[in-house]
Amino acid sequence: MKILVINAGSSSLKYQLIDMDNEHVIAKGNCERIGIEGSLITHKTDDGRKVQLESNFPTHTEAFEKLLEVLTTGEGKVIDSIAEISAVGHRVLHGSEVYKESTLITDKVIDDIDSFRELGPLHNPPQAATMRACRKALGESVPMVAVFDTSFHQTMPEKAFMYGIPYEYYEKYSLRKYGFHGTSHRYVSGHYLKITGKKPEGTKVVVCHLGNGSSITAVKDGKCVDTTMGFTPLDGLIMGTRSGAVDPSVVTFMMNKEGFTPDEISSLLNKKSGFLGISGLSSDARDLVNASKEGNKRAKLACDMFRYQIKKYIGSYAAAMGGLDAVLFTGGIGENSDEARAEVCEGLEFLGIELDDAENKNKTGKDHLISKGKTEVWVIPTDEEMTIARDTKELVEKAGK
Ligand code: ADP
Repeated sequence: MKILVINAGSSSLKYQLIDMDNEHVIAKGNCERIGIEGSLITHKTDDGRKVQLESNFPTHTEAFEKLLEVLTTGEGKVIDSIAEISAVGHRVLHGSEVYKESTLITDKVIDDIDSFRELGPLHNPPQAATMRACRKALGESVPMVAVFDTSFHQTMPEKAFMYGIPYEYYEKYSLRKYGFHGTSHRYVSGHYLKITGKKPEGTKVVVCHLGNGSSITAVKDGKCVDTTMGFTPLDGLIMGTRSGAVDPSVVTFMMNKEGFTPDEISSLLNKKSGFLGISGLSSDARDLVNASKEGNKRAKLACDMFRYQIKKYIGSYAAAMGGLDAVLFTGGIGENSDEARAEVCEGLEFLGIELDDAENKNKTGKDHLISKGKTEVWVIPTDEEMTIARDTKELVEKAGK
């Protein structure tokens, strides 16, 4: 069974074609700069071929059509025809309070995803459009599954997801904390249970997904009980270009002082803040680590802020869960930066956290235990695409499609 996994962002469309009989990735790629001049597709195959083509993608629909062409023709060809694609799994940013788990896609599901556009303005509309393009190109007989970034967090209790603003706005606009990166948090916390043989009941873990976007989740009894991202993926930790949590008065103060419109302040907080805004140098963590080693104070400050905030969330989530069995690091920074992990864990001995320095520095690229204390610390590389493909396979098989 070959499953196509689609991850449509605001101006990109990433994909993987996976053979689910052996969970082997046959090809993967990315259509970039959709709707922007200079759009291109980069495509890699499992036998080492790499194709890069400039093409014109005014919208996600043309990008999707192009990726089907690249999979079936030319230098990057990996299948003879689109008929070999048995099912498609789509990553969806926002499922509102409606979608608590992955679901088979019907016309109503696509309309719902489109209708959540206020909650995910940059992602939900192109994701719905991609689903429509996919249905048109592959036909009704190819089942599609939606896997939501928000659904893993739907188990949070009210006390964790409500904001302290008048209740009517929750009723009127569904204004609440949703949380994101759910597919990654679900995979990493579930994988930890699998590799350690622990039961979900009674197990308390904190998952730190640290990348360009970062979020931390408290998982108790296998379920999410709290997470750092909020109504949108802007909340919580300082990130590459996102501010993370700020006092809401900062927003009104800056609007008053600088005359920013709502769109301008949103762009400032989402695209010009975080590592980039603090350092004035780069949004990339590696650049900051290198610059701070060369004595750049603001690069060091950005790194310090990030690591300090992670430490605080680990402590607060241990308190929220009434204990802590493991801290799990994932994402580009979580998986690769031994320095960040060391600094985050330093001083957390009171929580039973004690890193094994050699193991922490050991770059295996695989799951591995990096601690020697009572509370385990693991590096677990995330695999969102495989999780989407597995959900897709399971739902399609269950439905007898
Ligand atoms: P995204 O959130 O876009 O999926 P990733 O999870 O791939 O991003 O993470 C990208 C981040 O990981 C970048 O900031 C990059 O600098 C950082 N990163 C990758 N390797 C290292 C490393 N060895 N040390 C520190 N940071 C790293």
